[in-house]
Amino acid sequence: MANIDTESRLYRKGLGLRAEVQEPLRKDYAGLVVDFARERNFKLVAGDLTFRLAKEFGFCYGVDRAVEYAYEARARFPGKRIFITGEIIHNPYVNGRLSEMGIQFLDGPYGTDEKFASITTDDVVLLPAFGVSAGELEILRKKGMILVDTTCGSVMNVWKNVDHYARDGFTSVVHGKSGHEETKATVSRATKGNGHYIVVHDLNESEMVGDYIETSHDRTRFMEFFSDAVSPGFDPDSHLTHIGLANQTTMLSSESLEIAERLRQSMVRRFGESELEARFRSFDTICSATQERQDAVVELCEEGVDLMLVIGGYNSSNTAHLAEICSEKFPTFHIADSLSMESAVLIRHKPLHEQKEVEATDWLPEGALKIGVTAGASTPDVKVDEVIERVLAFRGLTRHDLTG
Ligand code: SF4
Repeated sequence: MANIDTESRLYRKGLGLRAEVQEPLRKDYAGLVVDFARERNFKLVAGDLTFRLAKEFGFCYGVDRAVEYAYEARARFPGKRIFITGEIIHNPYVNGRLSEMGIQFLDGPYGTDEKFASITTDDVVLLPAFGVSAGELEILRKKGMILVDTTCGSVMNVWKNVDHYARDGFTSVVHGKSGHEETKATVSRATKGNGHYIVVHDLNESEMVGDYIETSHDRTRFMEFFSDAVSPGFDPDSHLTHIGLANQTTMLSSESLEIAERLRQSMVRRFGESELEARFRSFDTICSATQERQDAVVELCEEGVDLMLVIGGYNSSNTAHLAEICSEKFPTFHIADSLSMESAVLIRHKPLHEQKEVEATDWLPEGALKIGVTAGASTPDVKVDEVIERVLAFRGLTRHDLTG
């Protein structure tokens, strides 16, 4: 039975058509090669190629649920216009499939001409897995159309923490990307009452915040640097005296922990150990799916491979972090999909910390090779299948040559 709040027409726990959409979901996203690998301890061999798949990769529980709700919404409301506020998840193939099903995007790279203003009470609006800002949600609820909220529970858990921070007079320090949909949604919940926030992207930025907490040095430079990453009216002199740590769910967990520790030390140095409990809070809000995928590539790195293929959208934060972990050890190629591998000689990939795809040559050396494979939480298994099959094809092999 679908869970619906009849007054607001808000669906948060599915639309009662779970069984009906399983077959189309399987057809669009399942991977035969991946299923074969899962049954064989994530190892596949063909000719002199060995593929070692990470033990956790691909669709996470939040993405599974979001995509399922989108399919349920299409099936439940065949005659209605259905919109989504932006990308449902960061994967071009999945967003493309929703587009083909007639779901229209209100913003982002797939955005259509339709805007919030043109939506009527007869329409259906999907909220993506990373959620929307509190302000956008308020506008949509007031309009009174049918809302299907696919926001992941792990994201809502972060919101709960920053909401508490705001209520208790703590400034949220969010380890995340200030332009990312999830972080934008999170910080919108950090400003309740008189709450404030600052977003730090990495350890270097947390060093700057830590230094400011300790010295209050060069306020102008500090504010210039963080101008796009702080709440309106943020004052580093008064708003960094009580801080609460949170993170975008898909960040590198080891870095989030380092950032929390760095800022904890700054608070101790500035206010003394005795004040710490009253002035510093920290929750690890990396979601379990992100953690499991990161742990699985660490395990793969320990085992050793000749090269790594990391598959996922270039704007996918969790995919980028998987690539970051692997690139410290092996030649690593973050590719959007199988077509990024032009040939056995030429590959297009996104290097770490670069915004654009670049070309690399001689990426697939001849002879025996052990290739590591992983995929971000928004990458369907079918895309992993395609990558493995294309590599096989470069060696004149097919999936029928694969053994465990
Ligand atoms: S990566 Fe984590 S927070 Fe994001 S949708 Fe998946 S399970 Fe939810």
